[in-house]
Amino acid sequence: MNKNISFNKPFISNYEIKNIKKLLLKNYYSAGGYFSKKCSNWLKNNIGCKEALMVNSCTGALEICALLLNIRSGDQVIMPSYTFVSTANAFVLRGGLPVFVDIDPKTLNIDVNKIEKAITKKTKAIVVVHYAGVSCDMDLILKIAKKYKLYVIEDAAQAILSRYKNKTLGSIGDLATLSFHDSKNIHCGEGGALLINNKKFINRSKIIMNKGTNRNDFDKKIVNKYTWVDIGSSYGLSEINCAFLYAQLKKTNEIINKRLKLWKIYYDFFSKYQNIVSVPHIPPKVKHNAHIFYLILKKYNRNLLLKILNKKKINSIFHYIPLHNSPYGKINCKYSENMNVTNMIARKLIRLPLHNSITNQDILRVKKVFKKIFKYNL
Ligand SMILES: *Cc1c(COP(=O)(O)O)cnc(C)c1O
Repeated sequence: MNKNISFNKPFISNYEIKNIKKLLLKNYYSAGGYFSKKCSNWLKNNIGCKEALMVNSCTGALEICALLLNIRSGDQVIMPSYTFVSTANAFVLRGGLPVFVDIDPKTLNIDVNKIEKAITKKTKAIVVVHYAGVSCDMDLILKIAKKYKLYVIEDAAQAILSRYKNKTLGSIGDLATLSFHDSKNIHCGEGGALLINNKKFINRSKIIMNKGTNRNDFDKKIVNKYTWVDIGSSYGLSEINCAFLYAQLKKTNEIINKRLKLWKIYYDFFSKYQNIVSVPHIPPKVKHNAHIFYLILKKYNRNLLLKILNKKKINSIFHYIPLHNSPYGKINCKYSENMNVTNMIARKLIRLPLHNSITNQDILRVKKVFKKIFKYNL
């Protein structure tokens, strides 16, 4: 009997438990403690952003972005529709209107050539998503943002330590967000970070994430009692999660290198079948982190193929239902021009198992199954 090749298995080193034990001696479990500072410094040093705040999720970090930009009723925010709901939801919560732009069929990132047509007097920001940890075309995006005086937010949920030219993702936009959900390369169950490069947002972001109080000034002994000074919520990441996360962060290179090796084996194998499937495109001067290995099916019925793969115990899945086609997005968002590429990709993409517990034997079996499928046109 073949064992099941699971789609994802969250990484675990031996150090999470060591850090948690260390934490038990410290008598401090809420946000902003020893491990929170460790994680934040690690992110600043390795990404090159000006500030890094440990937040309870990438969703929470995106919500802070909407608050920092003072998004209010009628403000428009440009983004792809081929993304996770939180990219849009964070702005809708403030009364903003997501304006979806189609994606580039090569990278599945926002199509830079279609952004300008979507800009109106009400546009406040461009939110880019580095899909699969592969960078968007940041030079062109920054150029457009400058021309129209728009903020740039990087949803880098999938893109930890990916690079664009000489920069690490998350160090380019005014603001950026990371996810440490257990479906991502580096995780702590649920968690995220807000990365800040535009200095004007640093002070207020600390107030917003601290329930709208100046608690941060109190901790630094700048004021002798903290109080309510702005709107905000409870967005901090608990010290328990930070202790777990810090163990993972220290293994980041090891984790990504293993994923890159597996990704490359898939890539080389499926590249031989370009009449049947297309493989991911990595633009020149972009370094990715092997977050996702996907295929675009040129021939197969996607659902039938997924059924066959899962029957063979290769747990493959698809995503996303584009936000402009979702029950809520249909009514509460708008899109610019047509969404042909997004619609096509959403019908034809599959994701293969990719995580640190996959063995060479597992990969051999995946190859064998696909060879058979392709040979007999199953
Ligand atoms: C995972 C993900 C999120 C949400 O991350 P959470 O930490 O679960 O809130 C947001 N955007 C994108 C593109 C994601 O992949």
